Amino acid sequence: MNRIGEELERTHQSADVAADGEPLDATLAEVNRRLNARLQELNAIYTVGKSVTSSLDAREILDRVVLASVNLTQADDGFIILREDGRLFRRVVKRQGNRYTEHQHEETSDSVAWQVIRSGRPAMLHRETKIATGYLARALLYVPLEAPGTGPMGVLGVVNRHKDIPFAEAQLFALSTLADFAAIALENARLFASREAERSRLSGILEQATEAIIVTDPRDRLWLWSDTAARVFGIDAQAQGRPLDAYIDNPDIRLLFSQTRQEGRIQHAEITLDDGRVFNAQLSTIETVGHVVVMQDITHLKELDRLKSEFVSTVSHDLRTPLTTIQGYIELLDRAGPLNEMQTDFVGRALNSLTHITSLISDLLDIGRIEAGYDLEMHQLRLDDLVRTTVEATQTYAINEGLELVAELPRAPLWVLGNQRRLRQVLDNLISNAIKYNRPDGWVRVSANQDGEYAIVQVRDSGIGIPPEEEARIFDRFYRVQSPETEDVRGTGLGLSIVKSVIEKHKGRIWVQSSMGKGSTFTFVLPKLDVSRCVSPVT
Ligand code: ADP
Repeated sequence: MNRIGEELERTHQSADVAADGEPLDATLAEVNRRLNARLQELNAIYTVGKSVTSSLDAREILDRVVLASVNLTQADDGFIILREDGRLFRRVVKRQGNRYTEHQHEETSDSVAWQVIRSGRPAMLHRETKIATGYLARALLYVPLEAPGTGPMGVLGVVNRHKDIPFAEAQLFALSTLADFAAIALENARLFASREAERSRLSGILEQATEAIIVTDPRDRLWLWSDTAARVFGIDAQAQGRPLDAYIDNPDIRLLFSQTRQEGRIQHAEITLDDGRVFNAQLSTIETVGHVVVMQDITHLKELDRLKSEFVSTVSHDLRTPLTTIQGYIELLDRAGPLNEMQTDFVGRALNSLTHITSLISDLLDIGRIEAGYDLEMHQLRLDDLVRTTVEATQTYAINEGLELVAELPRAPLWVLGNQRRLRQVLDNLISNAIKYNRPDGWVRVSANQDGEYAIVQVRDSGIGIPPEEEARIFDRFYRVQSPETEDVRGTGLGLSIVKSVIEKHKGRIWVQSSMGKGSTFTFVLPKLDVSRCVSPVT
């Protein structure tokens, strides 16, 4: 039973005792009077308790508690002493005759206060207070201030300095109940103040950030944000504690949050705002804090990328036409008359360079087209057939290089939804790399399989391998591994970036595993088509 319940019970019992031997009406009237008086008192305590615990301002709490203590106990004075770093300080006092409280920060050596704090029990004295407290009072009542789990944090006290009236049980009860409310409220205020201090420290750091940064609590309510975020999303000072959705109604951000809930701590996404700006966002989950979204404005980078692709594709197109003409005429040179040995050598070199530049340009054109989504019509196709025909077509190249090239195919047809020409380009690139970066008498194996929902293709070779620190970069445009083994191998550094773009356009993934000097395995997976729905084979 709580303190209030116990008190009502006690009132009832004392009324029972008083009833012995008295007329029933009088007894009942007395019981009623006492219960009413006690209920009024409890009601007053409850009202004060509610108002105290609703505040997060320590000063306001101290004021309300001391005023209520003096009122409820009819004492001359009231005060609160708080413990700080092992010392006691008188923090607020209400003196008789003054309407308002005084706030102070005065150290006190009140030994009764120490005793109450150490024992955790109240003290009620009459006429012996001078010795105990160092000042003259005729009666005093001190109760400890202690919130659950905090240990005694101070004392709530009332004294009768002028009137010689001792305090009684009922006042002890009222004061103890108030002290309970006060201690919880003070502890809440302390926690809130320390959270606010932390918040303003972080907020100071965030203000300077050029990125749009938003921190939410675990229930996705706004807690902190940078100035940039405030400008971009129109977050105002009233947003504190409001749901993120109320301020940011963006489907990309909503998706990012739901992905984090389902898939894990850190998620990345590109976020497009209604006004066309594009942000690169990373959302991280931080235990006990909530979520942090860091967004970088990449609108200008996107625009540059688009301009660059447009430029590259226009220029490459315009370059390819005259180059084809040049190549045609060079090839016709020996028809114009016999060439001597030196002329034949020069024509051969010119043709070699032309082939290189033409393949560079056609790769660049391809990248532009693939990224723009051109020539990517998807049809149902058999990936196993595509692997077989590509391997057959590359066989002569492999034999000329002194390599064994084998296809390992599944028994059942492997259907996918894809673009035949582009997937052929992927296989061509991977197989020709496996041949180019191989060793004499080596081998290349190309396998197609299925695993659950996916079709899996692997191109394995017994070649030079890729240094582990370069594995992630070989899919970047123009990136080529610089080593003595690759020095003489011709290439543009664009093949794998085309491969990656094509696979991603097919909603697949590609990766490489390699061991230096032993060989590499390139694996790509594509969503498999349900066989029962694939009735018409596609050539
Ligand atoms: P490149 O035209 O240079 O072959 P790619 O984009 O196809 O361009 O490949 C990028 C780089 O990755 C190559 O220059 C090479 O260093 C490395 N690479 C690709 N495939 C293999 C492989 N099978 N074995 C070893 N290295 C490879």
